[in-house]
Amino acid sequence: MFILHGTKTLRIKKYIDNRIKCEECGSYTHIFKVYQDYFHIFFIPFVPFGVKRITSQCSKCGFALNGQKKDFYLDQTRTPKYMYSGIILIVSIITAAILLNLHNQKLKKEYIANPMIGDVYLIKGEANNNEYYFMKVKHIIEDSIYLIPNSYIYSRFVTKFNEKEDYFNLYYLMSTSKDHLKELLEEGKIRSVERDYDEDTGFNVEKNIEMEEEAEFI
Ligand SMILES: [Zn+2]
Repeated sequence: MFILHGTKTLRIKKYIDNRIKCEECGSYTHIFKVYQDYFHIFFIPFVPFGVKRITSQCSKCGFALNGQKKDFYLDQTRTPKYMYSGIILIVSIITAAILLNLHNQKLKKEYIANPMIGDVYLIKGEANNNEYYFMKVKHIIEDSIYLIPNSYIYSRFVTKFNEKEDYFNLYYLMSTSKDHLKELLEEGKIRSVERDYDEDTGFNVEKNIEMEEEAEFI
């Protein structure tokens, strides 16, 4: 990826001093400008570098001052926060991602501790295989949870039925316990819990189909 970057200079402050009498023309308007170099990525200031510089100029004749007055204004000029925009942006994005992840982890724990009919779990198969499938809560009787599986196996993390023909199969109703669900979560086998999902996830599609391969053996 091409990343446009480089350095630029920005005037970060301008002071107008009406108390200094110009040695050259006698006027009383003197202007100080403070500059700062910064490193940018796509023109977003990332981080300032180098030292701040100040210029001085009589607004009438252009005469430049040296010494104390310049130092005074330079010293009281602070580097504005927006010069760190890029860094602030990146830190904000990372912080938001961490907070969102923590929130999701907490929510997942709550959902597993209190299952509801219709909850859909994404289950990761064997550790060395990239296999994912779904289970849906169909009935809850006290501590027993009755689940139905979907019909496809996915090769990556998914949050909905990516195969249009996928469905939950009522034929394979299986039971487990709340404690076992907690274990699966702790082992990292339950990757996500979906509740209040949209129609387009396909999670509402249920069929009662006996698998052909199994039927052949009967
Ligand atoms: Zn002047």
